[in-house]
Amino acid sequence: MKTIKDLDASLIEAFQNQLRGKLVLPDDANYDDTRKVYNGMINKHPGMFAMCVDVADVMAAVNFGRDNDLLVAIRGGGHNGGGLGLCNDGLVIDLSGIKFVRVDISNNTVRVGGGNLWGEVDHATHPFGLAVPAGIISTTGVGGLTLGGGVGYLSRKYGLTIDNLLEADMVLADGSFVTVNKNQNEDLFWAIRGGGGNFGVVTSFKFQAHPVKTVIGGPTLWPIEKTEEIMEWYHNFIHNAPDDLNGFAVTMIIPGPPFPDFLHGNQYCGIVWCYTGSQQEFDKLFKEVLDLEPVFAHVGEMPYPAIQTMFDGLFPPDLQWYWKADFFNDLGPELRAQHLKFGSKIPTPLSQMHMYPISGAASRVGAEETPWAYRDAKYAGVIVGVDPDPANADKITNWCKDYWEGLHPYSSGGAYLNFIMDEGQDRIKASYKQNYDRLVQIKKQYDPENLFQVNQNIKP
Ligand SMILES: Cc1cc2nc3c(=O)[nH]c(=O)nc-3n(C[C@H](O)[C@H](O)[C@H](O)COP(=O)(O)OP(=O)(O)OC[C@H]3O[C@@H](n4cnc5c(N)ncnc54)[C@H](O)[C@@H]3O)c2cc1C
Repeated sequence: MKTIKDLDASLIEAFQNQLRGKLVLPDDANYDDTRKVYNGMINKHPGMFAMCVDVADVMAAVNFGRDNDLLVAIRGGGHNGGGLGLCNDGLVIDLSGIKFVRVDISNNTVRVGGGNLWGEVDHATHPFGLAVPAGIISTTGVGGLTLGGGVGYLSRKYGLTIDNLLEADMVLADGSFVTVNKNQNEDLFWAIRGGGGNFGVVTSFKFQAHPVKTVIGGPTLWPIEKTEEIMEWYHNFIHNAPDDLNGFAVTMIIPGPPFPDFLHGNQYCGIVWCYTGSQQEFDKLFKEVLDLEPVFAHVGEMPYPAIQTMFDGLFPPDLQWYWKADFFNDLGPELRAQHLKFGSKIPTPLSQMHMYPISGAASRVGAEETPWAYRDAKYAGVIVGVDPDPANADKITNWCKDYWEGLHPYSSGGAYLNFIMDEGQDRIKASYKQNYDRLVQIKKQYDPENLFQVNQNIKP
């Protein structure tokens, strides 16, 4: 494999002339800004960025990367925990210039650029009273979140993000352009609904949107000592609740504003709710929550983009992040005891554990209908060690690993791949279960040389 340094300047100049977007090279003044991603722990030095603005740019960039035997990374929103939107020395195909959102109100579908962020989609759909199921924060990229699955506030009601993907436009490893949907290139359409960026560069997505204008949501908190009791109740409650109700469980420290002073610096277990039904029905359901006497309950009606942006301010770019994750089928006594143990030792104010329920609509899709195999898991769990200070990198990493070691014996084996960093091939296989072999067959057909390998890689 070559690096950009091995290439003749005339080749690079000819490549620039093919693009409407700009190339960014290590000597350029904006190089260091361009190589930043959301996770401040990532410090990669790509040889070149192709800042693509249209499909033609992406085709040229794919051809250039392949013909010159370069390592190629694709960057959507740049949020990936392991920094998979970047590579060292090679070519980064940056999609941040390919942004557009077009809402079609004749059938409630939304066409989105390959480089959009979710907040931009929410902004465009909200005036029409529509939303596309995504995650729980607005700054994540549409590309990486969708291609990995997409778990969030609307998963119980409308399924994962991939369950709402209708079509995608892609540039494949041979530079060709294809449209994939349930009638066209069905194998690729199957593979990209969970198989990540392994199969090509997605230049646009078409989603089914749903009528969601406002939601009833927000957090309820209990002292960390109540973790086992609250989690036992939560497990019995959430999976039997109507699909309209979502709520993910957390262990966390309240870091400061906008939470009231009396909560600051203390450790809690909590649930962050999101309900898409009527206030009257919610009040009936929520009575059971209030009977558990949370020390804090800040739950009310708000526009859908408000819940999606609720935690954006707490988590600005450039913090240090360390990620570990697993799926869980249960929330039994041993597991609850581990949550109490490690939830009581959270090392920094922004470090947290989340358990996202996989039930309702997300669990009614068959395990082989998409590559996302863990439809029968009850939770996608994730632990994030987070802090602004690089000097605390070891502290947050060690806590995250210890918490994970405590939980892992009770896990289902695999992990939601958008919630892990680089954990090697066995973890990737375990996370696709029976779908891995089919993904390999499709990879062999469309990317036999593994041009797209900077991802949770499916080896051809
Ligand atoms: C603060 C925070 C909150 C999060 N919350 C959630 C959540 O609620 N739910 C959830 O499911 N996930 C969540 N995630 C995880 C998120 O889904 C992943 O980090 C995802 O990889 C981000 O996508 P991106 O496009 O921003 O990332 P990037 O770093 O740009 O890319 C990630 C991977 O996807 C590939 N890729 C991206 N775009 C394309 C494209 N257009 N075509 C082909 N390949 C592409 C890249 O090559 C890379 O391998 C969260 C992450 C963060 C940091």
